[in-house]
Amino acid sequence: MMKNPLDYVRPNILALAPYSTARDDFKGGDISVWLDANESPYDNGVNRYPDPHQHQLKHHIAELKGVRPEQIFVGGAGSDEAIDLVYRIFCRPGVDNVVAIAPSYGVYSVAAAINDVEYREVQLRSDFSLPVNRLLKATDSHTKVMWICSPNNPTANAFPRADIARLAEAFDGIVVVDEAYIDFSDRGSMLDILDNYPNVIVMQTFSKAWGMASLRLGMAFACEEIAAVFAKVKYPYNVNGPTQQAVIRHIVNDDISRQVKEIKQERAMLADILRQLPIVREVLPSDANFLLVRFVAPGAVYDYLVDNGVIVRNRSHLIACEGCLRLTVGTPEENRQLITLLRQYQSQ
Ligand SMILES: *Cc1c(COP(=O)(O)O)cnc(C)c1O
Repeated sequence: MMKNPLDYVRPNILALAPYSTARDDFKGGDISVWLDANESPYDNGVNRYPDPHQHQLKHHIAELKGVRPEQIFVGGAGSDEAIDLVYRIFCRPGVDNVVAIAPSYGVYSVAAAINDVEYREVQLRSDFSLPVNRLLKATDSHTKVMWICSPNNPTANAFPRADIARLAEAFDGIVVVDEAYIDFSDRGSMLDILDNYPNVIVMQTFSKAWGMASLRLGMAFACEEIAAVFAKVKYPYNVNGPTQQAVIRHIVNDDISRQVKEIKQERAMLADILRQLPIVREVLPSDANFLLVRFVAPGAVYDYLVDNGVIVRNRSHLIACEGCLRLTVGTPEENRQLITLLRQYQSQ
């Protein structure tokens, strides 16, 4: 439904006059004395406010991702910041609702609760495929956002691009595609549909394949109009200076393709070995850097691993994930340790 994407924005947000920083008022020029922002004049490397618009960083991200800088939002609290902003931009507290697949990433529902927005869950099919019609049926005139995590956490599978595109066409609202694990997937990113689907927001992060979880840099990509709303609503200096510089350095210097390739190889190796263990019922197909594995006795396996210094994520209480532990793919050495422990557990 190709309405103007700004039609989905809350009226108070559309009307908002954003805070203008000292650096916003400055329109360029050959300045050597900065007396505009009440900073300390003593140079210690971090005494100046960072660029609130993250121009340089966005330039590098745009090149990396094949989008225009004006389509990018970056958040200094990881993807969580972008997720929270989606609620604050589109959803009126106590009035609007969102629809999401289940099971999926927990932050969507927590952020909904914080923002007093009804969170409607639609269970994936038993094979974890996307229930397109049921998702659409769960919407009503107050549904502003649909959350699709692909590859999905914790089920590990990516959804067909055509399914997501169909949702974006049929849903009269914003479809957010969370692609935190897209670098590990053979299905392509949805970034290339943004120009045709102004109601789609794609989220990515530097926390996973790029190995910068500690820097907390998340991204949202959208049409220029929506990205401009994000820029207006975000905290002015939401990404600190050292983070902006460090991420640029990593983008310019790092080649993650070999690490990604190794993780995918290890993922396949781990899956093969795990499938042969009698303590394992099922290893779900994965497009991510983790495996969802159904065990005969997940609690006992979890405790055994913890007792031996290995921590995994217990997802066995989630509907459709009964018996499942989520295992992150580590280094070859770490994965060998995991396998050794599981074999030891089995033979005890
Ligand atoms: C890990 C993860 C993220 C990334 O979170 P950051 O806050 O950017 O570290 C986003 N979405 C999903 C589904 C994730 O699993």
